[in-house]
Amino acid sequence: MPELLGTGVGRGIASGPVLRMADPLGEPDRTPLAEPAPAANERVHAALAAVAEDLTKRGQLAGGDAQAVLEAQALMAQDPTLLDDVHKRIADGSNAERAVYDAFGAFQEILAAMGGYMGERAADLGDVAQRIIAKLRNVPAPGVPESDHPFVLVAHDLAPADTALLDLDKVLALVTRDGGPTSHTAILARAKGITAIVGVAEADTLSEGTVVVVDAAAGVVIADPTEAQLADASRRIAERAAAASEPVTPGALADGTHVPLLANLGNPADAAEAVALGAEGVGLFRTEFLFLDAPTAPTVEAQQRAYVQLLEAFPGKKVVVRALDAGADKPLSFLTDKHEENPALGRRGLRALRNHESVLRDQLTALAAADAETEADLWVMAPMVADAEETEYFVRIARELGIRTAGVMAEVPSLALMADQVFHHADFVSIGTNDLTQYTLAADRLLGTVAHYQNPWHPAVLRLVAQLGAAGADAGKAVGICGEAAADPLLAVVLVGLGATTLSMTPAALADVRAELRRHTLDQARDMARAALAAPTAAAAKAAALAAHVV
Ligand code: PEP
Ligand code: MG
Repeated sequence: MPELLGTGVGRGIASGPVLRMADPLGEPDRTPLAEPAPAANERVHAALAAVAEDLTKRGQLAGGDAQAVLEAQALMAQDPTLLDDVHKRIADGSNAERAVYDAFGAFQEILAAMGGYMGERAADLGDVAQRIIAKLRNVPAPGVPESDHPFVLVAHDLAPADTALLDLDKVLALVTRDGGPTSHTAILARAKGITAIVGVAEADTLSEGTVVVVDAAAGVVIADPTEAQLADASRRIAERAAAASEPVTPGALADGTHVPLLANLGNPADAAEAVALGAEGVGLFRTEFLFLDAPTAPTVEAQQRAYVQLLEAFPGKKVVVRALDAGADKPLSFLTDKHEENPALGRRGLRALRNHESVLRDQLTALAAADAETEADLWVMAPMVADAEETEYFVRIARELGIRTAGVMAEVPSLALMADQVFHHADFVSIGTNDLTQYTLAADRLLGTVAHYQNPWHPAVLRLVAQLGAAGADAGKAVGICGEAAADPLLAVVLVGLGATTLSMTPAALADVRAELRRHTLDQARDMARAALAAPTAAAAKAAALAAHVV
């Protein structure tokens, strides 16, 4: 039963037969242009317009995150710089298909060299080029295969257009060879709650029709599973289905200890769905997602409008908004230094804001004004904070500008190590386990080759969480979790055992976490935490937590 490893997205589990995505169109040949250049230009124009229209339509059908992604692709198809380059290549004698292929390829290379978020957009551009070439050839665009039975879709990578329109009654799970945790496939799969594993290096060995178990929580694809493995998968699939249909209640342990379950959001438009899934508030609102494409700093008024929209969705509820976290994978041109060798270790988060204090002041002013207009309980925190001195700096300015509850994220190990001093200033701490893991294990969270280090079960990460939990309890202050770790049901219990007072996650994960919390008392969660802390590795920590309280 070969086991293929990759990066699991979400917590789902599924089993079924493999169906492979059709191979991409072949590379266009270099035969010289055999039609008048104006005719070739005309055909390219028509193809670009048709592809842009098709992508926009698919976006409207899909809605939500998918719509934004597809509209961005539609814009790529009509980018004037790219079009100029295609015309130039046709004028130099390239045939139309080759000109599109080369012009998009050149731009793709530029994006790929930029790495991070921009690098991952390179794949989107390649998909647009394929669609245009298919139109020019008058053949169907490469895409998801048709099938009358449910299947596990295996592909090199999925274009956003494909992921957005997946028929969720047919596609049991996704397995891709390429892509990291922040690729579009991963982002959209997470938002749609599709079981997925990306970056499975050996995905090409899975042949059509092979039955597989896709276990996203473990990041493992089991090919040709044994009867016992299939039975275990079926049991877990049934448990998840049962959890999803359980009543939406506040998060609580078996002994009644309340553990508020909050949502991670990046757009006020997603608030209603989070509320429907039982979010008791917002534990992380990522403000930088509102301004990723902005060439200049947003005005106080524009920000205030967006924050009012968010806060109005949560009257009387806690909403934790994060100050702009620019840098590394989320560059904002008005805040980030352009040429850093190691942007994840550079001037990002609060460091960038401190370097542009007027941007920070404007944001806090907008937040305080939105708070005054609405009924939510607004908390504001800074990202990428190193120690008590930086905490004092942020909290002082936040208070000065009218923020009533101000705290910091624990993402840098130095902050966790100084936790007692941090709580002298901060009203609360929220632990960003994604970055805390990347910095504790010194492994770039976007780099596939070191993805196995990005495991928040590592006892080194858990020890830092324990230190923060203890300091928060001593100070009588809240310690939230807002990284992906909170969306892992078993780990969520351990985190509560380590002292976390709230858990915040992508809304699709709320039901699973709610169900798991109810299986353990606080004492049992603490036993599981103790066992995990004493383990030598991430895998051993998980096994020890499981063994400490078998339900
Ligand atoms: C984190 O680092 O865990 C976090 C929640 O922030 P982001 O993923 O946006 O960096
Ligand atoms: Mg972070």
